[in-house]
Amino acid sequence: MGTVHGVGKVDDFIGRLWTGWKQLRDEGLVQPLHLGLFRSDYLLHAPEREPISLKQVEFNTISVSFGCLSERTAGLHRYLNDFTNYYNTSSHFKSENFPVNNTISGLVEGLAEAHQTYNVVGLLYHRSQILFVVQPGERNVFDQRPLEYELLKNHSILVIRQTFDELAHTAFIDPITRVLRITVPHDLHSRDYVEISTVYFRAGYMPNEYPTPSHYSTRFLLERSRAIKCPSIALQLAGGKKVQEVLTQPGILERFLCNEQKWGKVVFDQQQVDELRQSFMGMWGLDVEEDSLTPGADIRDLKNETFGTRKARKLAPSLVLKPQREGGGNNIYKASIPPFLDALPPKERQAWIAMELIVSPEGTGNYLIRAGGEDKTAIKVEVVSELGIYGWALFGNSTGEVKEKQVGWLVRTKGKDSDEGGVATGFSVLDSLLLVDE
Ligand code: ADP
Ligand code: MG
Repeated sequence: MGTVHGVGKVDDFIGRLWTGWKQLRDEGLVQPLHLGLFRSDYLLHAPEREPISLKQVEFNTISVSFGCLSERTAGLHRYLNDFTNYYNTSSHFKSENFPVNNTISGLVEGLAEAHQTYNVVGLLYHRSQILFVVQPGERNVFDQRPLEYELLKNHSILVIRQTFDELAHTAFIDPITRVLRITVPHDLHSRDYVEISTVYFRAGYMPNEYPTPSHYSTRFLLERSRAIKCPSIALQLAGGKKVQEVLTQPGILERFLCNEQKWGKVVFDQQQVDELRQSFMGMWGLDVEEDSLTPGADIRDLKNETFGTRKARKLAPSLVLKPQREGGGNNIYKASIPPFLDALPPKERQAWIAMELIVSPEGTGNYLIRAGGEDKTAIKVEVVSELGIYGWALFGNSTGEVKEKQVGWLVRTKGKDSDEGGVATGFSVLDSLLLVDE
């Protein structure tokens, strides 16, 4: 948490969430559980003279998207295969090579688990509902509604969708029980509020979603309540790129995964930790003063540059710089790095990390066409596909029990020349997996 504290000193958004959460924690939070719906993203790494491997791009802990649409895309490709067999263009097009992708029911299981846990512990709170916190004018609604329909159909759980602006007027906390209540017009049971078991954030991860102090107040009100948050502010902050970088530092994975004294059991043995570490690319903070791998080597120079920035300048063609932001379009790549470093105020360095670029395999082609583009013809280009693996976890109670499950996958494909990866931001398209025997 010292990591987040450091970033928070120079990044106003992270700083506000961090200090707000710390204050609530010191006052005493009534809900110990955290729910995470996660997505871990990977690219194939194929540098010269090394075996091909999967490397982690990032780990998302808030508002992970495309769970629903990835299931639909896998279904579309399976349907097209059933219908046309893709005109017999490859012997790999067999139905057993299209893996199932039940992401919707899998993610919903996590939400339903939190809801049920809340209701068992919560004694008399019948007919509680799940709150989806969404953005005004939500564009991603088709990736959210299927979760809502599945919650109702298979778990008999109702969903209420509200924005921060709406919640500023409708959300209240019972002063005694800290139950979260949302004011509604009289419902079927003549109540004028609904009790919330679980708050699922599909909003709240970008600074521009908090245009006034009241937006932060609303977020903190939800956090203070008895409802289970998906994610809690702490879990949102744990998904930051700075935390990802710290996890690559020597000894840190061991501290969290092999510490029998702390957790009462060894979660991973050393071999598993080493395997996990092999999925990481090299990363470092721009503020590091010296190479942590060669302690004692003082290589600060006269221009008041840190070791971290000097190394980033030197290796710029094979690097990406990332701030503590989600949602795409924030990273600085390759040749843009040196001028960016020239302009970066020294005190802001600790909010940024440098990451080695993953080297995608050569020679994977496909046809791309841009919707609404002037040129309506498909162009043949080299492409890169990013794999996302979804999972959920419910954890945080005093017994240390973690309920968790891996639930489905996402493939996004983009032209190789595009650095960014977002679908909603227009860089990539939804895709799916075809298994092949090698
Ligand atoms: P965001 O939170 O904006 O999604 P990411 O870390 O996922 O941030 O970066 C956005 C995109 O940039 C990724 O989808 C990927 O295509 C590309 N990218 C990020 N890190 C790397 C890397 N180390 N090597 C190659 N491409 C990367
Ligand atoms: Mg990403």
